[in-house]
Amino acid sequence: APTTRVDKLLSSMGYGSRNEIKQMAKAGGITLDAAEIRDVTKRIPLTSDLTGRMEINGKALDPVAGMVILLNKPLGITCSHKEDGALVYDLLPERWRRRTPAISTVGRLDKQTSGLLLLTDDGDLLHRIISPKHCIKKTYRAKLARPLDGTEGALFASGQLMLNHETKPLAPAELEVVSETEVLVHVTEGRYHQVRRMFAATGNHVEDLHRERLGGLSLAENMPPGQWELLGEAQIDLIF
Ligand code: URA
Repeated sequence: APTTRVDKLLSSMGYGSRNEIKQMAKAGGITLDAAEIRDVTKRIPLTSDLTGRMEINGKALDPVAGMVILLNKPLGITCSHKEDGALVYDLLPERWRRRTPAISTVGRLDKQTSGLLLLTDDGDLLHRIISPKHCIKKTYRAKLARPLDGTEGALFASGQLMLNHETKPLAPAELEVVSETEVLVHVTEGRYHQVRRMFAATGNHVEDLHRERLGGLSLAENMPPGQWELLGEAQIDLIF
């Protein structure tokens, strides 16, 4: 395994500046296999089991790399690093905002869309999920302002629906009717405001939008908005 200096590793994981890490070590706050690390310039093997072997002030080290977080995104929160107001990153532990590589959302949900959102520090994984080539199915539950007129399913399935200001028709999408004003929509793309614009194209209006599934991952019904969990390998494999 490659090796890394303890101070470099911990500061890239957001635990503090290199000087702060040095002070933590001096105070006995950093252990590896239950032995205190005093010299933070020491190199240690960079392996994924460090999380089970290293403690920082008595707590297990965060995952070193390849984090995949599943969040139940609340309404009113923005998927951006920059904008003002409440950001999805504010829902995660504060030091995770200082990690490099940075944790980013896998695609985006609108401020007024809730539900299943992934975040990761793994750029390759992010691209595999959002690339249209992989055709990963995303399922949204939409509540509509007006009753369906019955033509929507065929239109969405046609592969001919052209949204305003776009040059390429949408890939076929599937509509599942729950009631006159509630549907599940299964899409494989992630265009800007896609589901809202699909219904706008039919003269309707989406009042409420919630993502329930991404690939084979679904949001547990009892997961409160704002709550998140780290995914393990088996769960990550369910995406594809
Ligand atoms: N479609 C939308 O319109 N908004 C989202 O957030 C996701 C899909």
